[in-house]
Amino acid sequence: MNVAQLLVRAARVAPGDPAVLLGERVLLDYAGFARRAAQLGAGLQGALALAPGERVAILLRNRPEYLDLLWGAWMAGLAVVPVNAKLHPREVEFILADSGARVLFTDADAAGALRAAAPRLPALRTVVDVDGADYPRLFGDAACEPAGREPQDTAWLFYTSGTTGRPKGVMITHRNLLAMALCYLADVDPIARQDASLYAAPMSHGAGLYCVPHVLAGARHVVPASGGFDPAEVLRLAARLRHVSLFAAPTMVKRLVEGAQAQGSGGDGIKTIVYGGAPMYAADIEQALAVLGPRFVQIYGQGECPMGITVLARSQLTDTAHPRHAQRLASVGVAQSAVEVRVAAPPGDAGEVLVRGDTVMAGYWGNPEATAQALQGGWLHTGDVGALDGDGFLTLMDRSKDLIISGGSNIYPREVEEVLLRHPAVREVAVVGRPHAEWGEEVVAFVVPRPGAALDTAELDALCLDSIARFKRPRHYRLMDELPKNNYGKVLKTALRTLDQAGVAA
Ligand code: AMP
Repeated sequence: MNVAQLLVRAARVAPGDPAVLLGERVLLDYAGFARRAAQLGAGLQGALALAPGERVAILLRNRPEYLDLLWGAWMAGLAVVPVNAKLHPREVEFILADSGARVLFTDADAAGALRAAAPRLPALRTVVDVDGADYPRLFGDAACEPAGREPQDTAWLFYTSGTTGRPKGVMITHRNLLAMALCYLADVDPIARQDASLYAAPMSHGAGLYCVPHVLAGARHVVPASGGFDPAEVLRLAARLRHVSLFAAPTMVKRLVEGAQAQGSGGDGIKTIVYGGAPMYAADIEQALAVLGPRFVQIYGQGECPMGITVLARSQLTDTAHPRHAQRLASVGVAQSAVEVRVAAPPGDAGEVLVRGDTVMAGYWGNPEATAQALQGGWLHTGDVGALDGDGFLTLMDRSKDLIISGGSNIYPREVEEVLLRHPAVREVAVVGRPHAEWGEEVVAFVVPRPGAALDTAELDALCLDSIARFKRPRHYRLMDELPKNNYGKVLKTALRTLDQAGVAA
């Protein structure tokens, strides 16, 4: 099935329901949304002569046109290649070349640089500036029906962040999108028509994927006028629009909580904040629940299994009477309905997290070796280290590459970070390993103090001695104004290790 059928159905059921909003302003109802997607689909097939299966790249910040482009491309049976809007033109060029994208939709800022790269990109026929005259011309009188697609056909080619080598194009199929959407409804949160999906996190990533369950349910899609994440704007829009749900990385949750506290807001109008994509520390989720109330659900996923591995439900987050509540709060929850999750280790022990089921990617685009390695034995090898408890709750330690081995013992940075974050003067922390001649590695903590707080590292040391084994405590503390993060709010540990090395060498 072509996932675009969901939009056709939603528009038939309730054509007059509000569909696409820019801030508080309704731009399109469902009939209008589906019409634009069908017109654009016809334009892609006709004027741009694209055939089903070909790739359409999107390099834009969050804006309403993103929804036209995703659904218009799917209508025409094409695969979208959403590109992180903050990438360097050279990185964008790599993705365009690797995906063989035929068309790139972008804005005036990027169009010039990428038109200059066009001679090096033989597959690329056109660069369309969505603010220019060519874009509206693609919406003509003709409208297309959803092109026939098989469940295993690629709908979204998602490029991994490539911190360890070249980015790889994850083939996310129509089946994957449908399974992810059904899991959202079954496991994460039911969606009613009056609900609104607010795109505060980049639509090139998980937030954009969440438009699928919200189209399925006929809910509103709200693009903030800022095109990004501004805590005050989120709080204001939620209060005005009501029933607002959003995806937020843990660092965004933290900023939203601080913003709400500063305004004396309790998150009025927010229905659900789905968080994930990076570790959420116990101290941070406890504070978020205290300030914003029972509005949270956690998911764990990765590009190779988008938004689709485990879920920690609202009820589990708030069931403080449960005897294992503390462990559950620090876990990523249980397998979502479409997948089996196991850990490559004896029960209770830590090992690599393996996943099998309908949200797992078809493979990497044009890279059978990497596909065979990632999907060995039919299981996705996530590269994450975790442990399953007897109730099926998965606790993630760290990415295997972030594990620190000191004096032959494993140290999971997350465990040390959880302890340091309990200190009131610590706002953010990231722990990495530094090569050490005798021990192999030693522990270094990068700490961001709370504004105005005086940080005494002796106190941090005492806190660690109180809570974890001696060998796990940081041997060095480095104070920072902020931690390096990517566009999705993930702390860049590779960058921290490089920074640390530069400091040691200096
Ligand atoms: P990406 O493919 O860029 O979305 O990154 C996926 C990685 O982020 C996963 O493999 C995990 O290491 C991490 N991650 C995702 N969700 C969570 C979560 N809820 N808790 C901890 N780490 C997470």
